[in-house]
Amino acid sequence: MGACCGKGKETRPASNVYSYQRPRPPPQAVKPSPPPPTSYRPEAPPTGTRHSPPSPLKPNPPVPSPKPALTYDTILDKPFDDVRRNYTLGKELGRGQFGVTYLCTENSTGHSYACKSISKRKLVHKNDKEDTKREIQIMQHLSGQSNIVEFKGAYEDKNSVHLVMELCAGGELFDRIIAKGHYTERAASSICRDIVNVVNICHFMGVMHRDLKPENFLLATKDEDALLKTTDFGLSVFIEEGKVYRDIVGSAYYVAPEVLKRSYGKEIDIWSAGVILYILLSGVPPFWAETEKGIFDAILKGDIDFVSEPWPSISSSAKDLVRKMLTQDPRKRITSAQVLEHPWIKGGEASDKPIDSAVLSRMKQFRAMNKLKKLALKVIAESLSEEEIKGLKQMFSNLDTDKSGSITYEELKTGLARLGSKLSEAEVKQLMDAADVDGNGTIDYIEFITATMHRHKLERDENLYSAFQYFDKDDSGFITRDELETALEEHGMGDAATIKEIISEVDADNDGRINYEEFCAMMRSGFQQPAKII
Ligand code: ADP
Ligand code: MG
Repeated sequence: MGACCGKGKETRPASNVYSYQRPRPPPQAVKPSPPPPTSYRPEAPPTGTRHSPPSPLKPNPPVPSPKPALTYDTILDKPFDDVRRNYTLGKELGRGQFGVTYLCTENSTGHSYACKSISKRKLVHKNDKEDTKREIQIMQHLSGQSNIVEFKGAYEDKNSVHLVMELCAGGELFDRIIAKGHYTERAASSICRDIVNVVNICHFMGVMHRDLKPENFLLATKDEDALLKTTDFGLSVFIEEGKVYRDIVGSAYYVAPEVLKRSYGKEIDIWSAGVILYILLSGVPPFWAETEKGIFDAILKGDIDFVSEPWPSISSSAKDLVRKMLTQDPRKRITSAQVLEHPWIKGGEASDKPIDSAVLSRMKQFRAMNKLKKLALKVIAESLSEEEIKGLKQMFSNLDTDKSGSITYEELKTGLARLGSKLSEAEVKQLMDAADVDGNGTIDYIEFITATMHRHKLERDENLYSAFQYFDKDDSGFITRDELETALEEHGMGDAATIKEIISEVDADNDGRINYEEFCAMMRSGFQQPAKII
């Protein structure tokens, strides 16, 4: 990180976290204010291998004033599309270093959303373009989970990139903590479960968040028991198996010791969640100092204060979990799945509500598709770039526990159970059969990608067009009955009845063949908001 980019909040005084109202040392009293608890976004060299400053403990060099050099024609690599064509932007909801988030209303429906607008003038560093694209990719990849903000669409105009997403009307978890001072154990346990659920889903889906902090958790509504939603995947990355991450990212209070040592993996998210839990229970951050260096020293030392108020009155089970989450050695640290099994989390009010899983809902949607659509999706899946399927690849490898290259019924069952699904044997079997396009009894890599890839990928015009061309062998502009038969036969999927069924379902103008428009309508149909699982 030649120079770090401060990703602090600008709406709130820089010393935001210092307003926690607890003893040791009374943060409000501290003057002058310590440096802002910024998030750092690493700046990578062109090769893609990220580098870090010589010493993490040194204060960051000042951010060089943006050079006039780097400007991008487009960030999203697609034609400009004015967000205001579909939405009316309203009041500001919040801002970070890169984004200003506005309330926005969809013109056609009157529904409210949030629009994070990133000024292109701020995207001046080498990797900012890739980082922005990755943020969008990760949001798309994770969309469809109840604790993750639902992504709606990305737009770009001359000045900005706009990310339209679900509105979280309840504001930041941060502000609730401030308002409450600290939480009851019961409330803290339930919030901690939501946070770790997100970590569990992210890790399972091959994403490391890297910037977990209360500001990045929003409440869906103003209700007391509002659902917690994660937002801001600006620092997240697709996990690459075996890779040691070195760039220093995150916000001072929440950063794990191994990040400061520049050798880390996904366990850092659990550490940050542990810091949030400590704050929820006591109102103060566990590692505190007046300077950033002081905070880092405290993190590396790792002493946790369980003596000051209110810790003596907090249950030993809660402390046990905090201790396990704030374990220095990442290999010995508790995992997200283990946290969800911890007695303090499971406790009396353990919820038997299964978590939603995007994998599962996408597989279920896939199950309901006709064979032409399945095959078309397979054609699209095969053409996706390595970059586009990184997350799914990681998920596949999470499910393929024996690393055989294909997922068996048992592996699917245990994998989905790990995600919290409570499917019956028969239902898992149905999913298995649906995804197993070639019918060999296991789900291979490409079948998995086909069944679980997100509709955003599928809906891209160029993908639909090349899939259409795959079937329309003679370039006539129509998929004929013969062409359909040949294609399905090649994949061992077709019989006369199936073909008849497909034609009658898709051929809207009844001319006995499928034109491009009919093909696109079929491909885009049936993708509602992922259904709640069971
Ligand atoms: P940055 O990457 O610049 O930190 P964020 O994605 O964290 O940007 O957004 C900045 C702030 O905007 C958030 O802290 C929050 O207050 C507000 N915000 C972001 N997304 C939403 C949303 N979906 N609904 C309501 N407010 C939001
Ligand atoms: Mg943020």
